[in-house]
Amino acid sequence: MQRVYLDNAATTAIRPEVVDEMAHVMKNVFGNPSSTHVFGREAKALIEMSRKNIAQRLNVSPAEIYFTSCGTESNNTIIRSCVNDLAVTRIITTDMEHKCVLESVKDVEHKGNVEVIRLNILKDGNIDYSQLEELLKDQSKKTLVSLMHANNEIGNLTDVKYISQLCQDNSALFHSDSVQTVGHYNLDFQELGMDFASCSAHKIHGPKGAGFLYAKKASHIKPLISGGGQERGLRSGTENVYGIVGLSKSLDLALDELDAHVKHIKEIKQYTIDQLKEAIPGVAFNGLSEDLDKSLYALLSIKLPFHDTLIGFELELAGIAVSQGSACSSGAAKVSLVMQTLYTEEEINQMTPLRVSYSYETTKEDINILVDTLKKIAEKHQLQNA
Ligand code: PLP
Repeated sequence: MQRVYLDNAATTAIRPEVVDEMAHVMKNVFGNPSSTHVFGREAKALIEMSRKNIAQRLNVSPAEIYFTSCGTESNNTIIRSCVNDLAVTRIITTDMEHKCVLESVKDVEHKGNVEVIRLNILKDGNIDYSQLEELLKDQSKKTLVSLMHANNEIGNLTDVKYISQLCQDNSALFHSDSVQTVGHYNLDFQELGMDFASCSAHKIHGPKGAGFLYAKKASHIKPLISGGGQERGLRSGTENVYGIVGLSKSLDLALDELDAHVKHIKEIKQYTIDQLKEAIPGVAFNGLSEDLDKSLYALLSIKLPFHDTLIGFELELAGIAVSQGSACSSGAAKVSLVMQTLYTEEEINQMTPLRVSYSYETTKEDINILVDTLKKIAEKHQLQNA
């Protein structure tokens, strides 16, 4: 059976060019970057070259890039340090953030005297910008605004540049989880203006276990992990040298080939939308997902017009890997927080969310297999309801 992978927002296949580069380092450069002898210096040089390259790609200073193990660690470090070290006592965020942000915020909320405000979400999945504007007028508490750049479930994009300015004007700090956008857009972090951001290599055809956090110069955040003082004291632990090299290479490839990838993926996404509309009457899309420019172009959040808690298994049987926009806990299908934020219980009971996420490797053939399978499932539901 042909297997179809349409879950690239969860993770991507590592590119052979990245594997080659990493394998070269694994075979040839084994020194500990903290050692002062030549073996260590060679490893250290690779880290610093990677840092310089990533910084250049994002138009920031190398001193503003700190390597971490993943997006989760980056987001945790930023949020926890803003509260513990930068005297933040109010966090403005949403219920639609990735779990690593939701849980870090919950932790600091429960432990200290931190007020957390979760912004209203509009019907189209966008945040209520006017509510944020109002809230920021109150400057009595040091505030951190944490809003993801692209939502990983429905793809809605946040106007990061606008929010950065808003935060600057109101003396608030701004963190944007950019795990789903770095490598998918040509981002100029300086122009976007956020104080903190995060990235994960495995979302852009790089290795798992490598990521970075961006912290604007003189942000004074402190480490989550202390020890030998690596990463200028912000992240101790012997560096993942080949992971860092792989991260840098994967960002290079993503940005060098960006125009071709965007064109290809947008075509495939539009093809999916058109085919689904033809095959399944009543199909719709969550948030702004159908809009190729207002949402992350590499992701389509489908709203099937029937409720099917077993759809994940049915697609699995057909060899198709997608995400359901719902998490499985204790064997029971659980509706995600994002869907609960967007829809009433009654609406949820009449639909099935499905997240399809693309890569430069996705083909129309993959989409044909998905649409044919979904069509059969939809017809089965029609028969049951007839
Ligand atoms: N933030 C977003 C928006 C994500 O989509 C993910 C991964 O799914 C993460 C953070 C966590 O990244 P990592 O898997 O590198 O910990």
